[in-house]
Amino acid sequence: MKEKLRIAIDGPSGAGKSTIARQVAGALGIDYIDTGAMYRAVGYKALREQIPLEDREALGAMLSATEIDFSGGNTLLDGEVINDKIRTPEVSKMASDISALPEVREKLVALQRQMGSSKSVVMDGRDIGTNVLRDAEYKFFLTASAEERARRRWLELLEKGETVSLEEVQADIAARDHNDSSRPLNPLRRAPDALEIDSSHMSIEQVTAFILRRVCPEQH
Ligand code: C5P
Repeated sequence: MKEKLRIAIDGPSGAGKSTIARQVAGALGIDYIDTGAMYRAVGYKALREQIPLEDREALGAMLSATEIDFSGGNTLLDGEVINDKIRTPEVSKMASDISALPEVREKLVALQRQMGSSKSVVMDGRDIGTNVLRDAEYKFFLTASAEERARRRWLELLEKGETVSLEEVQADIAARDHNDSSRPLNPLRRAPDALEIDSSHMSIEQVTAFILRRVCPEQH
């Protein structure tokens, strides 16, 4: 394997990025950085502290007093494990809204670049290949049809015991797709040098194997 390997995986909500990125990182024995979890952490904190997004001063103060880290597969917000707390529909919506604010992106992008500066990583998100790790050794853009992405997210929520209709999940995915692709700052885009993978008819294992073959053909 090369000295330092950075793999960027971008794509819309529900394309399977985080599961696949985690598996790829595990197979290669390198760190996985879930940048969506970082936007979710900030969104969760703003909700918990009841900071309205219009109150930029309060938001700025909150951001300066916020620490986000990953350790042992956990997402830590100011030292507290928040893994499940940031996976609710309410936090998803807030993460998408708050991620459009320049001060939020500035702080998190700087942190993400720092995390990817000294070691090999798999990083997933919306703007990794186009912005955060523009010089990543490998870039993938993972998509799936909106129907398939909504169905997957719905099944995931049902498994967790949430009572939500497929229509609600479809509406949520459509709203986030729109938000993430239309914001002026670092919108969701495929980097020109990213390889696009449509996973609508592929299993998680097939996509992971495809990426590993590209990155390490001699081993996979
Ligand atoms: O990937 P996930 O669904 O957890 O991301 C939550 C939200 O965070 C997304 O809807 C998107 O608005 C935002 N995000 C972002 N840039 C990234 C990762 C996530 O704007 N690199």
